[in-house]
Amino acid sequence: MDSSGRQAEAAGRGPRVLVVGGGIAGPGVAQRLCCYSAFPYLRVLEATARAGGRIRSERRFGGVVEVGAHWIHGPSQGNPVFQLAAKYGLLGKKELSEENQLIETGGHVGLPSVTYTSSGGSVSLELVAEVPSLFYSLTDQTREFLHWAEAPAPSGEYLKGKIQQHMAGWAEDEGTRKLKLAILNNLFSVECCVSGTHSMNLVALAPFGEYTALPGLDCTFPGGYQGLTDCIVASLPTDVMVFNKPVKTIHWNGSFQEASAPGEAFPVLVECEDGGCFPAHHVIVTVPLGPATCSAASSPGWNPSSWRLCRMRMCSCLPRCSAG
Ligand SMILES: Cc1cc2nc3c(=O)[nH]c(=O)nc-3n(C[C@H](O)[C@H](O)[C@H](O)COP(=O)(O)OP(=O)(O)OC[C@H]3O[C@@H](n4cnc5c(N)ncnc54)[C@H](O)[C@@H]3O)c2cc1C
Repeated sequence: MDSSGRQAEAAGRGPRVLVVGGGIAGPGVAQRLCCYSAFPYLRVLEATARAGGRIRSERRFGGVVEVGAHWIHGPSQGNPVFQLAAKYGLLGKKELSEENQLIETGGHVGLPSVTYTSSGGSVSLELVAEVPSLFYSLTDQTREFLHWAEAPAPSGEYLKGKIQQHMAGWAEDEGTRKLKLAILNNLFSVECCVSGTHSMNLVALAPFGEYTALPGLDCTFPGGYQGLTDCIVASLPTDVMVFNKPVKTIHWNGSFQEASAPGEAFPVLVECEDGGCFPAHHVIVTVPLGPATCSAASSPGWNPSSWRLCRMRMCSCLPRCSAG
């Protein structure tokens, strides 16, 4: 801990921590920190009027409509989302069953039981099984780039290059080769949906390889995913969530004063779009950084090195001491 943190603790207040973003990660972080008496001053600054971010469930047509996240992938004991959902009683009996938790899918969607070409001919099941097996072996290979600061290519380019190498060894007739390519094309489309992008060239290789599939058959929340963020937020002290506070800039590694804390220097200043300023000892950023190929300049206060550092650390939380 640095001298300003010690100074605050000596004064009996504990360090001041700000969390930027009130999706699920921000309130989740706040919930963890609230467990420690060393963090009595804690605020989550959320740009909009609601918590949950990309998790949003609406009641429509007599049921629940998920506008954002839908599934718990790998619902088993090693999955913190599953654990929290179970703790809050948000899952059904089947989702909680041990049998469900033990199912291994490898994180891949199941193969269709029947597949047709665009002209109506059915495609052999062997071919439909063989091509995904190649594709998934290649996606598994991306793990080798996990800790690389500069991966050689975006995921899409890397996978296509590897597929071209394999194609050189394909001995089948032209029609079968075309079918295999069409199946691969479908698998790319599925992967785009999973990664939330229209092109795998927008997904960097290093974070792509970080995905770990947990056991458990994917399940949904009978009452809506948002029930989880609602429960997390409800567990926080009432003044922790601050809504309608879009953060404009984060000034790292400075020495900032506040009238209410005379003589105390804070190393970070969080500046909001409405002109409000929040000095802090530590800031945890949970806003999406965007795809790794986008401009770092569009994120609040990110310089390219802190953005890269965050990506390299495979998380969306950047402690104050990591920036700059
Ligand atoms: C359509 C869709 C379907 C999905 N399906 C699934 C699924 O089935 N299963 C699954 O596990 N995941 C799914 N996801 C992904 C999942 O929703 C996200 O991974 C997760 O919600 C991210 O949470 P987060 O808190 O990290 O970020 P977010 O939910 O993006 O929260 C970030 C928060 O930061 C706020 N913010 C942004 N900029 C600022 C700023 N400058 N100042 C202050 N606040 C700011 C935003 O308003 C937002 O509330 C899906 C996502 C989408 C969009």
